[in-house]
Amino acid sequence: YIYLSPSCERIAGYSPEEFIANPKLLFDMIRPDHAEKFHQHYADETNKETPVFSVVVPIITKSGEERWLEHNCSPVFDGQGNYAGRLGNNRDITERKHEQEVLATQLRLIDYAADHSVKELLQLFLDEIEVLTNSEIGFYHFVEADQTTLTLQTWSTNTLENMCTAENVGLHYPVNEAGVWVDCIHQRKPVIHNDYSSLSHKKGLPEGHAPIVRELVVPVIRGEKIVAVLGVGNKKTNYDQEDVNTIQRLANVAWESVVRKQAEEARARLNIQLEAKNKELEQVVSVASHDLRSPLVCIEGFSDVLETSLADIISVLDSESLSSETKERLEQSIKNSRTSIEYINKSASRMESLLDGLLQVSRLGQVEIKTEDLCMNMLMSDVLCGLKFQSEEKEARIDVAELPSCQGNEGQINQLFTNLIGNALKYSDPDRPCIIRISGHKEGTHSVYCVEDNGIGIAPEFQEKIFMLFHQLDPGAAGEGLGLSIAYKIVERHNGKMWVESDFGKGSRFYVLL
Ligand code: ADP
Repeated sequence: YIYLSPSCERIAGYSPEEFIANPKLLFDMIRPDHAEKFHQHYADETNKETPVFSVVVPIITKSGEERWLEHNCSPVFDGQGNYAGRLGNNRDITERKHEQEVLATQLRLIDYAADHSVKELLQLFLDEIEVLTNSEIGFYHFVEADQTTLTLQTWSTNTLENMCTAENVGLHYPVNEAGVWVDCIHQRKPVIHNDYSSLSHKKGLPEGHAPIVRELVVPVIRGEKIVAVLGVGNKKTNYDQEDVNTIQRLANVAWESVVRKQAEEARARLNIQLEAKNKELEQVVSVASHDLRSPLVCIEGFSDVLETSLADIISVLDSESLSSETKERLEQSIKNSRTSIEYINKSASRMESLLDGLLQVSRLGQVEIKTEDLCMNMLMSDVLCGLKFQSEEKEARIDVAELPSCQGNEGQINQLFTNLIGNALKYSDPDRPCIIRISGHKEGTHSVYCVEDNGIGIAPEFQEKIFMLFHQLDPGAAGEGLGLSIAYKIVERHNGKMWVESDFGKGSRFYVLL
């Protein structure tokens, strides 16, 4: 060295004289995993062609601290163009590097959270803050809503693999039984214990617990409550405010991801439960609608027997010499019985069609459906053919626009539009000609169809309810209140959506997105 600026002492801890006394000192300071790369730049010290270069390397300073250097170096030539040596400058970029690492870690955590569990996410978080604070231990606890109980979530990978055999993950225990690290709960702020062994209130560590030299613990606070406590330990040098800042920034990102993940996991659990319940319900409905059929057949059979018996009584009645008064009374009760049988028959056949509908709804959820590319204009012609009788009866005008195709099960999509157009005909306004319009358009990869009528319309308060099983606005009306439930279920099975817009007294628009 010819000259070293005094700032080398500020950055490296060694004075210019120490560098001059030991020309290899700079090389020895490079962190071992970067040493080879750094040495290569100087491999041919005298090569005039060695270009200008710039490298970023970690060094270990005289006090044992790690700092990052941006090392720039260029060859120097004398007046005759002879290689005369090198000119170097070193910039301390530790803070910039640290900032970049914290930002990169934040992004890594967010990315990792997308497809990992809460425990895995917290373990990565601990591993990351362990590296950023040069620690050897990391642990994470949730603080329960009562603020008096803790649940251990996880340790860092290094703690688990090399330091600690007292796993205890998932363990609940009271705050007042925990170690000195809960000082951060009582004080509601980060706490540093750089002098762990001399703490008078420490409780001693459980069997298998990693030995603690120093620790930094941070509470995560949301509103009035502390929601989590996490800590790192055993940094080689003292923890300081910079470590606190780093951990707090990452702890916030990690906690937000935990909250999101917990909500996602709860939703997924609910969905699984819901699916199982739905399947169970569908099976019950299917068995019930099947089993209720035999008593129904019985009722229908016995009402036939009653009918025949009545006919017998009438024939005997004619041949018997009874008083006209008795005859009249008997004739009246026969008439009443016939009316009752008629009601029984009507109710039985209504119950039969309800059971048919129920069975149909439950089967919709049970069978696998095959889908194919459907030409919707062709499908709509078939639907209208099937509704020819009803549309002629209503003297309806049905306009069908050019429709986009879609992926679906032909039988079910036919049934869906049969039900919607059937309703448009059924609920037309008797005071004006029935006009129905069927249209559709593409929305990205989806197809949206609309069945619009100028019928009686649906009052706003009923618009949500009509898709429910057996729901009819006019309970006395023809039909079973099943058509829209079946339609809705078909759309659901196709992962689509269905909704209604209606102006009461003017008409309705039923939309289907497939
Ligand atoms: P159903 O027609 O057998 O009663 P749905 O499930 O098909 O059963 O319909 C449920 C109820 O929704 C009907 O009773 C009717 O009150 C109302 N509704 C359905 N479609 C229309 C429509 N296009 N216009 C007016 N009301 C309708």
